[in-house]
Amino acid sequence: MNDYDLLVVGSANADLVIGVERRPAPGETVLGSDLAVHPGGKGANQAVAAARLGARTALLARVGDDAHGRLLLDSQRAAGVDTGGVRVGGAPTGVALITVDPSGDNSIVVSPGANARLTPEDIRDAAGLFARARVVSAQLEIPLETVTEAVRARAAGSRFVLNPSPPRPLPAEVLAACDPLVLNEHEARFVLGDGGGDGGDGKDPEGRARALLALGARSVVVTLGAEGALVAEGGTAVRVPSPRVGAVDTTGAGDAFTAALAWRLGLGEDLATAAAFAVRVGAAAVTKEGAQASFPTAGEVAAL
Ligand code: ATP
Repeated sequence: MNDYDLLVVGSANADLVIGVERRPAPGETVLGSDLAVHPGGKGANQAVAAARLGARTALLARVGDDAHGRLLLDSQRAAGVDTGGVRVGGAPTGVALITVDPSGDNSIVVSPGANARLTPEDIRDAAGLFARARVVSAQLEIPLETVTEAVRARAAGSRFVLNPSPPRPLPAEVLAACDPLVLNEHEARFVLGDGGGDGGDGKDPEGRARALLALGARSVVVTLGAEGALVAEGGTAVRVPSPRVGAVDTTGAGDAFTAALAWRLGLGEDLATAAAFAVRVGAAAVTKEGAQASFPTAGEVAAL
């Protein structure tokens, strides 16, 4: 029995954001704006995005026994996510320290904290959650061996969706489970082992998708920002255009896209149909500021 449309295995971070006129030089102190604290992390974002669309969603993550951890749990529960799988303690909650300059450029320092302590044993302890999930999705802000264990823990017939961010080459066992691997072109270059490249590898998105399929992924979705996405499986590759919107802030667009895609695949849609829905969710998310705050309801997607 599937109680969950989607089980997200991933990170939860507190995003601490300060606006600055300019970044401090070594040894220097600068004054910034009031501090803003937002719930974030790719796992937490995906879970909120899916739940807001109406998916029955559970999150398997680790946070610290601290105020940031409580903020994250509260935001998950407010969105309707089942947080029974969120482990508490072992290290401080993961934090992203973000400074934003007047041109909108970010500088970010991440302390993985509790995310780095989400272990393969935590996955094995959560066998009950895996048994009840149609789709399992993961990202790479938790240890790779934990993601690998999540691949192994899936129930027969449950689908695995991976957004390899931050990107790195993947073990064959993980790649072979990805159906699909969801990534932007920058991430595709890293997974293909060309992380130092400038994009001048002679490959277009179709070429990269073919190379990722050849590497072992069962299917591939390359997100293309305002252009939408490219869907590739078997011998076919199809472009799915995104609706045109006035983009305000693209933070979290990829998380919203991946969550929507994973949910709709679990409902039985084919990859192109699910991607056609997901590009609308991604587009809706860029019309508002913030990450979780920008994720649309199903009604908002329909009205786009
Ligand atoms: P991020 O890291 O900012 O979350 P990403 O690089 O993982 O994003 P993108 O390809 O930028 O992912 O965006 C994901 C999806 O969001 C796109 O496939 C598209 O549907 C939508 N999207 C992103 N930017 C825009 C935009 N400017 N206009 C319309 N849709 C957009």
